[in-house]
Amino acid sequence: MTSAAGVVVVGGGQAGFSVVSTLRASGYEGPVTVFAAEPHLPYQRPPLSKKAHTEPDGVRVELVPESFYRERDIDLRLGDGVIALDPAARTVLTRAGSRVPYDHLVLATGARNRPLPVPGAELAGVHALRSLDDALTIGRALTTAREVVVIGGGFIGLELAQVARARGARVTVVELTDRLLSRAVSAELEPRLREWHERAGVRILTGTAVHALEGNGRVELVVTTQGILPAGLVVYGIGAVPRDELAREAGLAVRDGVVVDEQLRSVTDPRVSAVGDCARHPHPHADGMVRLESVQNAIDQGALVGRRLAGSPATYESLPWFWSDQGEIKLQIAGLRAPSDEVRLVAGDSADRLAAYAFRADRLVAVETLNWPAEHLAARRLLERRTPVSAAELAGTTLGALARARRAAEVRA
Ligand SMILES: Cc1cc2nc3c(=O)[nH]c(=O)nc-3n(C[C@H](O)[C@H](O)[C@H](O)COP(=O)(O)OP(=O)(O)OC[C@H]3O[C@@H](n4cnc5c(N)ncnc54)[C@H](O)[C@@H]3O)c2cc1C
Repeated sequence: MTSAAGVVVVGGGQAGFSVVSTLRASGYEGPVTVFAAEPHLPYQRPPLSKKAHTEPDGVRVELVPESFYRERDIDLRLGDGVIALDPAARTVLTRAGSRVPYDHLVLATGARNRPLPVPGAELAGVHALRSLDDALTIGRALTTAREVVVIGGGFIGLELAQVARARGARVTVVELTDRLLSRAVSAELEPRLREWHERAGVRILTGTAVHALEGNGRVELVVTTQGILPAGLVVYGIGAVPRDELAREAGLAVRDGVVVDEQLRSVTDPRVSAVGDCARHPHPHADGMVRLESVQNAIDQGALVGRRLAGSPATYESLPWFWSDQGEIKLQIAGLRAPSDEVRLVAGDSADRLAAYAFRADRLVAVETLNWPAEHLAARRLLERRTPVSAAELAGTTLGALARARRAAEVRA
């Protein structure tokens, strides 16, 4: 597909970058324009929560240098967000006032943090982490904060808790549900993860609600159902919501994300695609539609749409996988686990290694590992190939060992 108006991408993050880099790598020669609301070159977010960042120049997170876009004739409009779509006229309207036509539009607008719904959330010293600018604000605050309260025991909260510990702060994580990472990690694995955090000096209060934040202009206290906590810095990470309002206002189907088909086209308008955190899509590894917030998903979906627009359509079926570095702990997840799956824990060959295998109808569907990258990779290879693995086959062994045994059997055959 090549014509005068070309491809317009809304959002210069991980997924938007993947679309435009793949378009050019796949030989697409039409105009390519990216509208990026942030003033920064497209960058990766994972490093933002794994280290304290204090100096803009010290944060090397951009995906590629500016020359990459210039050399490939990609028109990158930094700091100019799209404020409205007109699918009938096939144009977008930008904050700077330009009306720009497209042949195909890709929404890659990501997600925003869920706001903290308690009194005092607006006090100085209360932050959420999503952008590079947020990371710098929190990093600077960590240079002086002695008492840090993290609200939300999810990935970003736990990563930041360890970053704050490494800076010498006293850290309390306050989590509303009865366990950490309650949506992402199995109940079987969670106690080990919690033990590690507690051993690293993080105080964890689960089943605890925050009622209010108090202070004289700046946060000083966090009022919870388990008592009052002193706080010089509060960071909250209580989930994200997709940035799907442009699509909704333009009349495209939206249901906690832009609803797309198996090729990631809007189910309302095939000239619009959505990728990354803002897209709700069918997936062979899920029961029904899912919206995934991960780097893998953003990259693979962007690449799929880039290849389709360059002439090679395909169905989205990449295996979902994820990682989170929480101090000394490397948590990795391959596949999608459902709450009703049966989970079995297996210890690795050293004390800090652990895997949780999730089975559905006696078939391995997901694997969570702690500090065991080789087992994570073995899981990805097996799940990607859709090679069935039963609970009986995994009794008393690991995926790495099973994969080696299967390879040896193939060589013998
Ligand atoms: C702190 C943090 C740590 C993370 N760590 C991990 C990790 O360890 N592992 C992992 O797999 N995932 C991690 N993630 C998740 C991962 O970064 C996201 O899933 C991924 O960035 C999604 O890519 P995206 O392009 O969909 O969205 P984003 O990367 O968020 O990019 C969307 C961009 O679109 C822009 N935008 C929005 N609306 C408009 C508009 N109207 N006009 C123009 N631009 C617009 C936004 O400003 C933003 O820059 C982390 C996320 C965060 C916030």
